[in-house]
Amino acid sequence: MGYGIPADNRAVKRPLGIVTRNYVTPPSVELYQGDLLDTSTGEILTRTPQIARAERWALKSVVNRLLSGDRVSKCMVLRAPISGQGLAPIEIHKGQTHGKAFYHGLMACGSVWTCPVCAAKIAERRRLELKQAIEAAKLKGFGVYFVTLTIPHGVGDDLHQLLANLSASLKRMSQDQHFRRIKKRLGIEIEGFIRAQEVTYGDNGWHPHFHMIVFTPDRSLSCSVLQQAYSEGWRSACVKSGIPEPDSDYGCTVQDGSRAANYVSKWGIEDEMTKSHVKQGKCSGLTPWGLLRAVLDGNAPEIAPEPAAALFRLYAHAFKGRRQLHWSVGLRAKLLPEQVELSDQELVDRPDDERAALLSEISTAQWKAIRNARAQASILDAAESDPRLISVLVARIMAKAGIDSGDAAGAPEYDGLRHFTGLHPDTPPPIPAPFVNERHALGFCLADIGRIRL
Ligand SMILES: [Zn+2]
Repeated sequence: MGYGIPADNRAVKRPLGIVTRNYVTPPSVELYQGDLLDTSTGEILTRTPQIARAERWALKSVVNRLLSGDRVSKCMVLRAPISGQGLAPIEIHKGQTHGKAFYHGLMACGSVWTCPVCAAKIAERRRLELKQAIEAAKLKGFGVYFVTLTIPHGVGDDLHQLLANLSASLKRMSQDQHFRRIKKRLGIEIEGFIRAQEVTYGDNGWHPHFHMIVFTPDRSLSCSVLQQAYSEGWRSACVKSGIPEPDSDYGCTVQDGSRAANYVSKWGIEDEMTKSHVKQGKCSGLTPWGLLRAVLDGNAPEIAPEPAAALFRLYAHAFKGRRQLHWSVGLRAKLLPEQVELSDQELVDRPDDERAALLSEISTAQWKAIRNARAQASILDAAESDPRLISVLVARIMAKAGIDSGDAAGAPEYDGLRHFTGLHPDTPPPIPAPFVNERHALGFCLADIGRIRL
């Protein structure tokens, strides 16, 4: 990762799995419970699911602070309303399928753009669907290609405007007669496509782009032929939309199916949370999760926490309501006819594991103390290692907070829709200081649990 622990801090074993790229160490070192670090690239090679989960909750804590007042900040905080029955109890379940513990009864926002907890859960399902789609396409003998489309951008460009330009060009291309004629001339037929919208932030400002997995009935079609058609189609669409002509090398690229498969295998936030963003000291492009990570770490070499926080908030506003993944009409029926299509919200509202056992119920006062201690991930770690640890850990957290663990008085009340007011772009609220440093969430748990005796 390269998230900037000072170079003189050369401890090899760190409980948080945060390391510097300046180490002079063997090719790989063990960080924590099996997390392996590649010392040449600074990337974490293997990470325990517990560390990944702790990182998600730590980032979630940052989001709650940056977007306070937004729906995402209430996600995994408030109890979920059950129609006609009031509020759901907060429970800890343990799935029988994978042995993972999870919370049940909490409101889930379903945001793929801003919520690390929901985005991870949704991405898990979407990754599987994308993988199955490519496999099904190959079985049918389809060609699979990976197309990337972007538009010129520079420092200071308005993200809202860039996204509007990108969408306008895309719409134009899908309806463009010129593009249709080129495809016909080159003998290209398209079965369908899956399109993903993404953005990074780097030396040239915001870099919004689309990736498309394009399926053709003819698998012998060469990439260069498809490149010819899409490059000209994209150029024509951009010009007709009144935006600058895309770069002839980078505006549109077409790669083969192996690139598509590789892209799909990394779909989700785990990879983006951990990969090194620093190459030769240049900021080659931070994903939104990378921006959050810079806020969390506070000493990232690429960007200071304050601008990273401001950029994330701008991004959150610009992407609100946008679709992340789009399947062309009829493609799902061709490739995944058996599968029920679930919305993002439907996905996060489902329990993590359908086959799960109830381990414990926690009061709203206990949940508040757990949240204030940034110990949400720790409780789940405890639940997985030994369910008896839950009450021990909760009691310790309550004691630390000066609350009797049996006393649920003073629990926060759900106040319905009042919470769900969005941010207005013209009046960004000040960034409140963290109540407890979110980094705490990364280190608290596993180190602390290790000391607990039953
Ligand atoms: Zn959420």
